[in-house]
Amino acid sequence: MKLYNIKYHNEQVSFIQAAKKGLGSKQGLFFPVNLPNFNLDTINSMLKINFIDRSYEILHSYIGNEITSNNLLMCIKNAFSFPVPIKNISHNISCVELFHGPTLAFKDFGGRFLAQILACICDKEKITILTATSGDTGAAISHAFYGMDNIRVVILYPKNRISPLQEKLFCTMGENIETIAIESDFDTCQSLVKMAFDDVYLNKSIHLNSANSINICRLLAQICYYFEALAAFPEEIRNNLVISVPSGNFGNLTAGLLAKSLGLPIKRFIAATNTNNTVPRFLDSGIWEPHITIPTISNAMDVSNPNNWPRIKELFHRKSWKLTDLFYGVVSDEKTKSSISKLDKIGYLSDPHSTIAWHVLKNSIKEKEHGLFLGTAHPAKFQDVIENILNKKIRLPYELTKYNKLPLLSYTMKPNFNILREFLLK
Ligand SMILES: *Cc1c(COP(=O)(O)O)cnc(C)c1O
Repeated sequence: MKLYNIKYHNEQVSFIQAAKKGLGSKQGLFFPVNLPNFNLDTINSMLKINFIDRSYEILHSYIGNEITSNNLLMCIKNAFSFPVPIKNISHNISCVELFHGPTLAFKDFGGRFLAQILACICDKEKITILTATSGDTGAAISHAFYGMDNIRVVILYPKNRISPLQEKLFCTMGENIETIAIESDFDTCQSLVKMAFDDVYLNKSIHLNSANSINICRLLAQICYYFEALAAFPEEIRNNLVISVPSGNFGNLTAGLLAKSLGLPIKRFIAATNTNNTVPRFLDSGIWEPHITIPTISNAMDVSNPNNWPRIKELFHRKSWKLTDLFYGVVSDEKTKSSISKLDKIGYLSDPHSTIAWHVLKNSIKEKEHGLFLGTAHPAKFQDVIENILNKKIRLPYELTKYNKLPLLSYTMKPNFNILREFLLK
């Protein structure tokens, strides 16, 4: 698999290089040179086989022979070791629950696949995974890499801006996992990571790698559950499917669009955001104007400068798709809360992020269409918020109670690159 840097088309790398480097020079994202495509007959037969074998076909079509078939299949089996159920919410809307992995958010798919691939290609080199999280990536990456030899994991997150249970899930682990609460917002954490990657000396000394959704491994892994979701529907519904994606850094939507580009017949996509609405405003006006990040109850989507947007633009350009065909909607905290209550009344407990996708979807869906929204996190991860809204207790799954009892091990740090640099070099 060849990939180019979106900022410098001449910079080309292999899949293994892209997986190791994460980002190209001048913080450019890597994008596939060839976009594989299956015809409809092939897609229909792929939808009939099991998740693991189908995921192999998908990932092999992108990655090619850089990873042996046996190794790739092993990585997929180890990474995708949990179910992807579909819940029917109402007569024309369903939810695909992506939060049944070890850290209860869809980030487990990409995080676990990335960890498997890096373990497979890095062998004995010592590497440092440096990543920023808006809440769920931190846990997924920490759990996926925990205890792996030769891999140091450093996670930055915005202090007091992730839910207490999200924090407990990855800031209590120790061993090869170090966590830093940055006294700022997620976008600042993300830009500190990018500065570290631009620092040639630092990068060479500690072999930096990013586990953010800028890493192509994570995006490729996420393509697979779009196929799994479509496989659950009969053909007449499948052909009229509208998918609503709760979006922050826009990795999840990028993966969905890559699935469509492979030939998966998805009628249209909806990008649903909270009040951090840089992309919806851009689609409205054509002007890219990130504002200061606003804290919301859907904190994993508190991103005002979404990292993956250049990839989406590149894909639309390459496929000659029109950005005007991308639907979108913005949901305030107030509307998110009332929608959580409405969903609860019809018997579905939903986390704030997934609820945003449902809210935009139900207002956008037309006759004959069937709506599918992505359930991106387990509601219990946002226990405080949800209990306040619904005025009732919700049960915590074992994964959460287990970590909730442990003490936090995080460092606290001012948003200053030199301090971070010293920390990394120590
Ligand atoms: C990360 C996250 C999102 C946003 O996904 P992106 O790929 O960054 O757009 C939505 N919901 C939850 C629960 C998340 O953790």
